Formats: sequence, structure tokens, C-alpha cells
Amino acid sequence: MMAADLGCGVNKTRDTVGIDRFPLEGVDVVVDLNKFPYPFADNSFDVFYLNDIIEHLPDTIGVMEELYRLCKPNAHIYIRVINWNSKLNAEDPTHVKAFTEHTFDFFGKYALRSYYSKARFEVVSCEYQFNAKVEKYIKNRRLMKFLGTYLNNVLEGLNFDLRCVKNTTSPSEHEPRQDRDIFSLIRCPHCIGDKETKDNSSLTIYNTDWLLCSNPHCKRKYPIVNGTPLLTLKDGNKRISVQPESLATIT
Ligand SMILES: [Zn+2]
Repeated sequence: MMAADLGCGVNKTRDTVGIDRFPLEGVDVVVDLNKFPYPFADNSFDVFYLNDIIEHLPDTIGVMEELYRLCKPNAHIYIRVINWNSKLNAEDPTHVKAFTEHTFDFFGKYALRSYYSKARFEVVSCEYQFNAKVEKYIKNRRLMKFLGTYLNNVLEGLNFDLRCVKNTTSPSEHEPRQDRDIFSLIRCPHCIGDKETKDNSSLTIYNTDWLLCSNPHCKRKYPIVNGTPLLTLKDGNKRISVQPESLATIT
């Protein structure tokens, strides 16, 4: 099973591949989360965790469409996000989006409002995280839910369980993936975005600390720093001239 923690920061979920913009401790692959597509093959992951990250990413639809592409059919995405009317949402200058318990209903449940995207997710559950002080004084959950809608700072967080609703159409989705590691799923960020080069964008390890794009017209290399591949376009701007007989001309 392949599980990923997107935007893991320094608090990566256990037994996951940590994906983040910064090479912090625990991060396994460095990726720019604002650049689409993400450098991974289609249908790569069984589980995603997004803890306190989606409110920091400007293009919510874009992120959900990328997750949809990367999810295997029936994969689960666990999203923890601050509720829209909590002051915690407003005070962080890096928050660019607000969420309610119904935001992810726009990916299928709201049949008449789900035309923005073809990505489809079933909202399996949405757990409410109420303010601890309010919870101490009010025990009635229905009243809390009511107050959370009309008063600020009552409902602080939302924990979603989303299921990826997707058909198995491509034969590659049936390949056994048990023995595959993250290095077999990562792709060249330059080449994965183009239909022509998408299928030729896998990366091979060279000299233990470089990854080379397998597209002969790309020739980009990406560094592996302390075991972590840095897969951002900025890091991959260095090109090499690959000699067929020798790969030793990396500069
Ligand atoms: Zn490439």
C-alpha cells in the first residue's frame, strides 16, 4: 500500500511518503505543490493525508484534480482543515482559502454544482472539531452544530474522509504495485505535464545522488539530497548531455 502525506512539514503521518516544498526532516520527496501536474504517475497512491495544508494552496480545484489523478480507484483522502469562521483561519497570513463542511460536496454530491471539475469524491464522513472551551460548557452536539454555523470560533476544525470515485479503465491500474517503491512512481516535473512526453517521464537513479529524466529530449537531472529527491522545476533546470556509452558527463 502506498500512502502519502501531502505538505507533511515536520509532522509526517507514520508510514507515509512525505511530500513537501521544503526538504525538512521526514520529507521524502520535494515537490512544488503549486505547480501542476505533480511529478508522480497516475493511480500511484492508496491513501493521502492532507493535514493543515489545503487552506495554504491557492488552487483548490487544481489540487483536488491532481489528487484524483494520483489516487487509485477507491483511494481515501483524509483532509484536516480549519473551519471558515474560526479566527485561526483568519489570523494566519499564509491561509488563502476557506472551507466549510460542504466544500467537498462540489465534487459530486451537489449534482447541480459539480460542473467545475470532473474529479469525483464521495464524502464518507466529516468530523467536527469544536473549540475546547465551548465543548466544556455545551454538551448538546446538535446545539453546538447550530451555534457553529451562526457564531464564530465554535467550530474550529473539520476532518474529512473522501473516497476517490473512479473507474478502472487503464490496464496499468491492474498492475501489482506491492513491490513498487516511491522511486518507481516519481516523474520528471517538466515532462509529466505534456501528453507527448508523459509516458516517457520516469526518472532513473544515477550515481546514487541524481535522478535522470528518461526522455532523451529533456535530459534534466534532479538532485537527491540526503536520500530526498528534489523534484521542483527550479532544481531540475540543470541539463546534461548524455553520451550513450557513458553517463559520466554530468556537470
Ligand atoms: Zn524530463
